Amino acid sequence: MTYRWMMAVRRDLLTSDSMLLTITSTTPPAGDLGFILHKHPDRVQDFSLPFGRAHVFYPEATSERTTAALLVEIDPVALVKRRGRDLVLNDYVNDRPYVASSFMSVAIARVFGSALRGKSEGHEDLVDQPMSITAQVAVVASYDGEEALHRLFEPLGYTVTVTAHRLNERFESWGDSPYYSLTLEGEVPVKSLLGHLYVLLPVLDGAKHYWVDESEIDKLLRSGEEWLSDHPEREVITRRYLKGQRSLTNAALDRLLAEDVGLVDQDVVDDSEVEDAQRVPLNRLRMDAVIEELKRLGARRILDLGCGEGRLIGELLRDPSVAQVTGMDVSVAALRKAARRLRLDEMSHRQRERVALMQGSLTYRDKRLSGFDAAAVVEVVEHLDLWQLGSFERALFGEAHPGAVVLTTPNAEYNVEYERMEAGSHRHLDHRFEWTRAELAAWAAGVCERNGYSVEFRGIGEESALVGSPTQMAVFRAGERQP
Ligand code: SAH
Repeated sequence: MTYRWMMAVRRDLLTSDSMLLTITSTTPPAGDLGFILHKHPDRVQDFSLPFGRAHVFYPEATSERTTAALLVEIDPVALVKRRGRDLVLNDYVNDRPYVASSFMSVAIARVFGSALRGKSEGHEDLVDQPMSITAQVAVVASYDGEEALHRLFEPLGYTVTVTAHRLNERFESWGDSPYYSLTLEGEVPVKSLLGHLYVLLPVLDGAKHYWVDESEIDKLLRSGEEWLSDHPEREVITRRYLKGQRSLTNAALDRLLAEDVGLVDQDVVDDSEVEDAQRVPLNRLRMDAVIEELKRLGARRILDLGCGEGRLIGELLRDPSVAQVTGMDVSVAALRKAARRLRLDEMSHRQRERVALMQGSLTYRDKRLSGFDAAAVVEVVEHLDLWQLGSFERALFGEAHPGAVVLTTPNAEYNVEYERMEAGSHRHLDHRFEWTRAELAAWAAGVCERNGYSVEFRGIGEESALVGSPTQMAVFRAGERQP
């Protein structure tokens, strides 16, 4: 494919300025750009890269307007020699040298690394300051068309201008190439601009040239920390950046969600409203039902998985028959709130011994979760993707294997009772699914069979004859384990 495109692509895209990024500041004194990027405007500087060379120079540098240019030259021969497990490039003939891609990303990190991390020595204040910036990328490849460029960059506050390049001027019918010139204009700190480009350029062309591993998650999250969790396309970005490797994508999304402090406030319906007649909100009823169940089970060492802000933990600790509670959540922000709410800092040594909070994901096996009498999983499973349920089951019922599991989740049948809910929608924006009673029962039956548990179901909240209760609870008990 690349061969034909390369031969057909307009010659002017193949000139030496093809893989070029320019950043222009018009915020006076515009020369500050040189300090921020840590590159002197009077010099041309060269850098060697694993796959070629980068040059930085300033086509213009006045106090009204300063432009820094990053030119990246790829050495196709060196590239082919370095070809690793994951390179899907055609030998010698490919479009890599001409489009901004993960190569440009690497060059940005190498050449403008300190600005990307927000550390321009002696000029830290400037790095975080919004400036009038225009960034131009001479050629980007977007296999999802022009649309994708707008979808990715506009939510970040840029005015996006895209020029499409025909595959070949002489053959109109061939239509557009996947190549575009991209201009971004906005009031942004240089650090943010670099972070956006660093993450989104490789996302666009979808072919990261080096092997993706866990350290990539850190890179992605570090560069995206301030904007990725709010970006409407965050899932696509994460998936593409991590090249569709599910476990990695998932770990990254988990961690992104973790930063998403607002999650708990995103209820589509406040499902407590139905309880108005009784004046007892549903979450209160849910808490009581779970606590009662744990008591009935005689659980002394209890896990609260997806503990959120730690409300259940707080209540459990009040019961002296409870020896120890460990709360786990994927969200660091939630855990921080939990620590504050539980006043961990002010606890006596003895009390403090009774409680532990830890960050982790329900979808990963975790040795720290072994040896508990019971686990509460309250309003959490519906936050997992359906395809993650297998790993969740293996991690909890298989590996951690507590004596009992008390699990609650919305009863989807009951949603018709919520006037403000549209048919087919979920109670909470982050819910990936909501189960009917039959669906929960079917899943639970499989879990029991595969992991040696038995299960009983109860409803929580006012029960309607037709659709049941708003919340459904499954109580699993472990049987004798086969040796
Ligand atoms: N159990 C609490 C919070 C429910 S909200 C309560 O009843 O109030 C769902 C919680 O699950 C959130 O705190 C969210 O961060 C957490 N969560 C979502 N996915 C998770 C995962 N994969 N592993 C652990 N926790 C997760």
